[in-house]
Amino acid sequence: MDNLLSSPFTFSQSSLQDYNDCPRRFKLRYIERLLWPAIETEPTQDYERHQIEGSLFHRMVQQNIIGIPAEKLSKLAQSDNLNKWWDAYMQHKPDFDGYALYPEYTLSAPLGEHRIVAKYDLIAIKPGEKAIIYDWKTYRKRPKNEYLAARWQTRLYSALLEKAGNHLNKDAPIFPEKIEMVYWFSNFPTEPARLNYSKEKAQSDWDLISKTITEINAEKEFAMSEDERPCKFCAYRSYCNRGVKAGEWDEFNEEIDAEESFEIDFERIGEIAF
Ligand code: SF4
Repeated sequence: MDNLLSSPFTFSQSSLQDYNDCPRRFKLRYIERLLWPAIETEPTQDYERHQIEGSLFHRMVQQNIIGIPAEKLSKLAQSDNLNKWWDAYMQHKPDFDGYALYPEYTLSAPLGEHRIVAKYDLIAIKPGEKAIIYDWKTYRKRPKNEYLAARWQTRLYSALLEKAGNHLNKDAPIFPEKIEMVYWFSNFPTEPARLNYSKEKAQSDWDLISKTITEINAEKEFAMSEDERPCKFCAYRSYCNRGVKAGEWDEFNEEIDAEESFEIDFERIGEIAF
């Protein structure tokens, strides 16, 4: 059987996380490109409202970082959640003093015949001193740092900044020890997760990224996840006979800010060879 993956294929944290959670989900979503046949949680309106509020919150923070005054933006906070998150951000936002800021920034790099890409909420750099990746999360529960450290987002974002971010650091290498990833939680503004990076982590992340992409490239079966827990909130339940009822919104705690629906414009971001 021929290779099922188109070439070049663009891997993101979401596609790698999907493969990690369930190879079949990866196939249905990224190879067969099936649209959403089932809702992921119920009640649907709670899920959708949180999704819209999350996107708007990201937009407000990004606009504030590029210089739009907070008073103007606060008019956009027209729901209880958004009001609360915006107040939290205004009172507890990170100290960006002395940093060059790159909000909503995309980095990409080739890896073998494929490419990897990451869209960052914010990269803050003090050239030669520190490089901080910020990610705004609207989680309703504060996840443990160990959970976040093991997520593909943490691995890919940190590894890619180290490999492909030199142009943000006055063309000098960004050493892994200078990189920190900060998850800032709008519902827990005084408890951000700060994850330090290291040479050893960078090496093991790159080994894992390469190994996983090689494995996906050679994959023929894309088997269903043995663990049925991911099915509860999966839009493809009906394709897999893994239940018809969506998981309860109260139990759902994934980020749903639709970040992965963005269109990547490779003409604009350019690509860094390494
Ligand atoms: S329903 Fe379960 S087995 Fe099917 S794609 Fe989703 S996670 Fe995988």
